[in-house]
Amino acid sequence: MDDTLLKKLRILADAAKYDASCASSGGTRREAAEGAIGSATGAGICHSYTPDGRCVSLLKILLTNYCLFDCAYCVNRRSSNVARARFSVEEVVRLTLGFYKRNYIEGLFLSSGIIRSPDYTMEQMMLVARMLRQQHGFTGYIHLKAIPEASPWLIEQAGLWADRLSVNLELPSAESLGRLAPEKDETTIQTAMGQMHERIVEAKEERRRFSPAGQSTQVIVGADDTTDAAVLAASDRLYRRYAMKRVYYSAFSPIPEASTTLPVRPPPLQRENRLYQADWLLRYYGFAVEEIAEGGQDGMLDLEVDPKLAWALKHRHRFPVDVNSAEREMLLRVPGLGTRVVERILSARRHTRLRMEDLARLTSGLKRARPFLIAADHHPARLTDRQDLRQRLAAPRAKQMQLF
Ligand code: SF4
Repeated sequence: MDDTLLKKLRILADAAKYDASCASSGGTRREAAEGAIGSATGAGICHSYTPDGRCVSLLKILLTNYCLFDCAYCVNRRSSNVARARFSVEEVVRLTLGFYKRNYIEGLFLSSGIIRSPDYTMEQMMLVARMLRQQHGFTGYIHLKAIPEASPWLIEQAGLWADRLSVNLELPSAESLGRLAPEKDETTIQTAMGQMHERIVEAKEERRRFSPAGQSTQVIVGADDTTDAAVLAASDRLYRRYAMKRVYYSAFSPIPEASTTLPVRPPPLQRENRLYQADWLLRYYGFAVEEIAEGGQDGMLDLEVDPKLAWALKHRHRFPVDVNSAEREMLLRVPGLGTRVVERILSARRHTRLRMEDLARLTSGLKRARPFLIAADHHPARLTDRQDLRQRLAAPRAKQMQLF
C-alpha cells in the first residue's frame, strides 16, 4: 500500500471509530487517541452479524471525514480542526478487496461525512458497493450508512448492493437534535427509516434484494441530559415502527476541541452497558420501558445492578417464583435466567418436578437465581426479609455484561 493511501486509511479508519452501529460497540471505550487506526477492536475492524447469525469482521472506514454539517458531538463536523482526507470510490474498492483477499476482513462498513450534497455522497457510497459486487464479484458483507437527506432512489439503489443499511438517529429527541445537530431533522430521519422498512418488507415479499440484513441505527448517550428512559422509549418506537435489527448505544466520547455545549466528561461506560442490557429486556424478555425505568431513579438506570435485578428488587413481593408452575413471562423475570434456560425449564418440567440439582444442570446462573426461585426441594425466605440481597448480587464489574 502506498504512503498516501496508508495516511488516508489512518485518518478515515480513526474517524469512523465513533460510529457504534456495528457489533463491536459495548466493548472497550473508543478513545480519541491519535495515530491508532481503528475502532473498539483496533486496526479499522469492527464486527457485525449476518442474517444467518455469523459474526463477521468488517473494514470500518469513512469515505471522507470532510463534512458540510456541524453536529456538535462529532469529530468530523465542519468546524472541527482535524486532519481531513477523502478516498475515491476506486480506492475503497481496492482496499476492501486487498484486505478481503488476505483474509483480514469479511466485509466493509462504509460511512461518510456529507460532501457537496447528501445525494452526491450517497451516490459515491452506492458506487463503492456496486463496483465491488458488479465488477469484482465481491460476495462479502457490506454495511452502508444511508444519508437520510439523500433521494429515496439513491437509497433504493444502495439497498440493492448492500447487506445492511443504517440511518443514525444520533439523538433520541427533536429537541436534542435541534440543540446539537441543527442541520439534522428528526422527521427526515424517521421518514428515511420508514421508507427503508417498507422496502425491506416489500423486497422480502417479492423475493428481490434490498438490504437483506435489515436496518440498524445508533443513538449517542451522555451528550446532553436526555434520560435513559427517554433513550429506551425512542428505541422501543424504532423497534416497533421500523423493525430495527439493532439500536446501538454509543456513550458520548469527548472529542478534540469539543463544542462548549457538550459535557467535559464522558458518561460512565457502565451506562452504555446498562442500556444494552435494558434493550435486551425490551426485545426478548417482555419488559416495558416504564418497568425498566422504574428499577432506577429519575429516569436513569441503576449503574450498580443490571436492570432485571433492579426490577426484581423493586418488586420483591412477586418473588420467589415456582419453577414448576410459574408462567413463562414470570420465569423470564427471574435474575439469572436467560431466554434459553427458561425454555429448557418449561420443557423439562413436563416430565418431572424440578429440584435444585436439575436446575443446576440447566443453567450456570443458578447462584444468582437461587433467592428468587422455588423448586421441589428449595423454599427460600421471602425477598422482603432479605435486605442484604442487593449488595450480595451486585456483580463485580467484569461480569456485569453477562448477567441474564
Ligand atoms: S453529518 Fe455525520 S459526519 Fe457530518 S458532522 Fe454530523 S455526525 Fe458528523
